[in-house]
Amino acid sequence: MMAGDPAPGLAVRDLAFVYPRSTEELFGGLTHAFATGAVTAVTGPSGRGKSTLLYVLGLMLRPRRGAVLFAGARVDDRSDAERSAVRGSRLGFVFQDAVLDPTRTVLESALEPALYAGLPYVVARSRALELLDQLGVGARADHRPGEISGGQAQRVAIARALLVDPPVVLADEPTGNLDHDNAQSVLAALGRAAAAGRTVVIATHDPFVLEHADEVLAL
Ligand code: ADP
Repeated sequence: MMAGDPAPGLAVRDLAFVYPRSTEELFGGLTHAFATGAVTAVTGPSGRGKSTLLYVLGLMLRPRRGAVLFAGARVDDRSDAERSAVRGSRLGFVFQDAVLDPTRTVLESALEPALYAGLPYVVARSRALELLDQLGVGARADHRPGEISGGQAQRVAIARALLVDPPVVLADEPTGNLDHDNAQSVLAALGRAAAAGRTVVIATHDPFVLEHADEVLAL
């Protein structure tokens, strides 16, 4: 689906956000349809609201005005329980720095969202192992976060975000602290997720990501 489609996968309309105790309005009435089957990079100077936009798209923050739409239906104004349900089933979120639970193995971290989504353990486990393999960290399945590199942890976070096969994947500076090889494999994984028909949105100022994104939205 393209930007002009009446019911695109993920869209915002007249969006603005203001943090409590702040006077600064972010996004200034942003209207945008995020392309399906493509990687959109959200860029702009530091402090412009890239991370905040991802949290609003991820239904973790409610906009001050405007709307977030999934498949043409408004979702930001739903109850906490409904927004959590949308988050659990239709959204994968890759946080900056990929903080993984130090007490869990890589495999346990990767499959955890599936258990919340009600996927049986055996199904979740095989899907997690397959994703970890695709991301080149399958051999690390039994390791704990202290035993893997930052780039590997970021790939585990992507496997986790893709586990329930969500139509929308949001990633906050996923290559921010990675060397070039790791940045390349993280971006390739997100590109494959998009090519499989998902809407992938990456908040970034990394020139490498900007160069390879299908679309760029500048805040
Ligand atoms: P970016 O990702 O583009 O660097 P952010 O979304 O992190 O921008 O922040 C946008 C603006 O909101 C900045 O001015 C930042 O200082 C402010 N901000 C971020 N988080 C909070 C918060 N929890 N409370 C108040 N202001 C915040």
